[in-house]
Amino acid sequence: MKVPKVNIIGAGLAGLSASCFLAQAGFEINVFEKNSRPGGRANFFEAEGFKFDMGPSWYWLPDVFENFFANFNKSVTDFYDLKKLETSYRVYWGKEDFTDIPAGLNNFLKLADALEPGSSQKLDGFFKEAEMKYDIAVNDICKEPGLSPFEFLKLKYLKAFLSCDSLSSVRSHIYKYVKNDRLRQILEFPILFLGTAANHTISLYSFMNHADTALSTWFPLGGIHEIPLGIQKLAESLGVKFHFNSEISKNNFNELNDDTVLINCDYQYFEQNILEKESQSYSENYWKSRTLCPAVLVFYIGVNKQLKSLEHHNIFFDYPYDLNAHEIYSVPKWPSNPFIYISASSKTDPSLAPANSENLFISIPIAAGLSDTEEIRKEYREKILTRIENVIGEKFIDDIIYERSYCINDFEKDYHSYQGNAFGLANTLMQTHFLRPSIKSKKMENIYYCGHSTVPGPGMPTAVLSGEIVSKQIIKEHAKNLH
Ligand SMILES: Cc1cc2nc3c(=O)[nH]c(=O)nc-3n(C[C@H](O)[C@H](O)[C@H](O)COP(=O)(O)OP(=O)(O)OC[C@H]3O[C@@H](n4cnc5c(N)ncnc54)[C@H](O)[C@@H]3O)c2cc1C
Repeated sequence: MKVPKVNIIGAGLAGLSASCFLAQAGFEINVFEKNSRPGGRANFFEAEGFKFDMGPSWYWLPDVFENFFANFNKSVTDFYDLKKLETSYRVYWGKEDFTDIPAGLNNFLKLADALEPGSSQKLDGFFKEAEMKYDIAVNDICKEPGLSPFEFLKLKYLKAFLSCDSLSSVRSHIYKYVKNDRLRQILEFPILFLGTAANHTISLYSFMNHADTALSTWFPLGGIHEIPLGIQKLAESLGVKFHFNSEISKNNFNELNDDTVLINCDYQYFEQNILEKESQSYSENYWKSRTLCPAVLVFYIGVNKQLKSLEHHNIFFDYPYDLNAHEIYSVPKWPSNPFIYISASSKTDPSLAPANSENLFISIPIAAGLSDTEEIRKEYREKILTRIENVIGEKFIDDIIYERSYCINDFEKDYHSYQGNAFGLANTLMQTHFLRPSIKSKKMENIYYCGHSTVPGPGMPTAVLSGEIVSKQIIKEHAKNLH
């Protein structure tokens, strides 16, 4: 019998994950990637002795990665070394005024009591519910193919929905438990990972608070890029063939289209730019009406000294996030005083910077589709770096020895990202699960999709799950052709 083939377009984390499951099931797999290495947005570069992860920096949901490798009788430690961060992250509230968020739920509850005496008792129920939601959301719902609303009609899900506060917003859910403004902001923070805001998202997603506290923040030594390198190694051991610097376009797509094709490159780009109109599942207007995750402006900065006022992960709530969210989702414009995030991974892994130096990844979220010019980047560089120096109370601008910026135009060029967005489609209520673009083409029988714009949504762990979901669907539908 002829071995059935799957051609995968894109070697992002979702495409890499799918390649492993499909190869293990007996398909012949070829992966075509436009860039020179695997990992997609989980990319990196090196310059002047500094190594910068270009995209993701938070390693959350470690169980998802562990479970992924376990499917192949492997463990994370077969591919990279993980380090748990004892301080998950630092929150700056204003000038030299910060709170360190510790790893582990018990430590977090002690912090909660320090911010609002007696709150740990109230939060006990909040975190039990978050854990229960996590179990259902990540281990069950996130593995559904999202092909029908009936997937929700399982007794287990219905019981869970009815037993807890699932449909109010995350914000109102949190406000029922605690009054302290800082504690409220800390509890709202994990929702930003879904590409939306706490007042726009249903409290089913409070499972992210379990991820933040009980599961903690980790880091793969060598940098985030170790994850795609590890999965590529696994895929190659299963027989997957990679073709880098191989962009698929309207001109060469037909060469792949006789077999099953799995699309990992950006959904909107593939549909609108590579497929003919009659083969597209969604119209141009459909995409225009979607809520995109934010875009980001990033500065990769090498500093010729160590900064004692920073932890590995640092977030800035010195200005209210709500105005930033308004300027991203409601009236898109360059933000007045944006939320700032700094990763200094050299704090955890000094090999990522020259001796006594720091590799800073400084980013702000902005609305997708904004005009991105050198003048604007320059203006924000001055604004943001001065603000950071002022808040952390430590000078570093004069010690910068390397810098590079990255924004909307780069995302469009490097990843064919729709309007330069960073993380795909936001996980709002109306864009959740079966309401997201489908993993199966509605027009072409041989075409399937994975990645951050379909189920389950944005993020590295979810990309890995997305590859698993779509593979299971392909394997189910092609079982008769497999040995
Ligand atoms: C700045 C930033 C920060 C982030 N922070 C975090 C974080 O801290 N934690 C976290 O978990 N997640 C984070 N994310 C999100 C996470 O990186 C993504 O959700 C995830 O990596 C997406 O994987 P994917 O496989 O869906 O898509 P991608 O990574 O975009 O992969 C798609 C691949 O398709 C390729 N491609 C595109 N067009 C073509 C074509 N025509 N032909 C061939 N190949 C093509 C692209 O080059 C790319 O390699 C962040 C993302 C960004 C950008």
